[in-house]
Order: sequence, then C-alpha cells, then structure tokens
Amino acid sequence: MRWKQKGYTMVEVVSVMAVVGILATVSMPGYKSIKEEAMKIQCLANRRIIERSAAAFTALTGQEKPDVETLINQGWLGERPQCICGGTYYWSQDRPYRLLCTFHSEKSVQPTDEIIDRDKL
Ligand SMILES: [Zn+2]
Repeated sequence: MRWKQKGYTMVEVVSVMAVVGILATVSMPGYKSIKEEAMKIQCLANRRIIERSAAAFTALTGQEKPDVETLINQGWLGERPQCICGGTYYWSQDRPYRLLCTFHSEKSVQPTDEIIDRDKL
C-alpha cells in the first residue's frame, strides 16, 4: 500500500507566506502613492469647481475672491466642496487669483493644475 500525503508540509506553507509577504511589501508603496495622487486630484477638482463658480459670480457682480459661504448662499455652489485630507481652501494674494489648499498646494500637481485667469473672463 502506497502512503498518500495529505495537506502541506511546514516548508511549503512558510514558503508561500514568504512570497505573499514579499509581494505585499513590494506593492504597498505603489498603492500608497496612487492613493495620495487620487486625493490630490480630488482636491484640485474641488478647487476648480469653486474657482469656476467664483469666476461666474465675479463676472456678474464684480466682487472678486468671494468666499465659499457667499457662493453657497447665493446658489452658485450646491454644497461645500472640502479637501479629503482636511486642508482649508484660501485665495492666493496675487493675480491671477487661485484657490489654494493648505494641505496640497505646496506640492506640485502638474500638468493638470491649470491656472484660471479671471481678468480674461
Ligand atoms: Zn487639499
């Protein structure tokens, strides 16, 4: 009668665990950077929504750099876009006025980070 092996040996189990661990270690930094990039892009999209609403508001009223509350209260924004990382939005001091984020604006998000020149609107 021939002996039949059931299950796996300890060496096989440890080998599989080591390979899975190596693959997870290699893939996690890539996943983290992709997640951070997605958060930056979402923040940028939020700021562009506010900037475009503000540009329309400025074109009609002449008031520059309106705050988000004004845009919401007057119906230019449906809801308050917020930075997913907890940053706060604020207007740049120099023209062309840009909405910046306290969390993301120091880091470059080129080439999708376009500048809206309100003087040309
Ligand atoms: Zn942000």
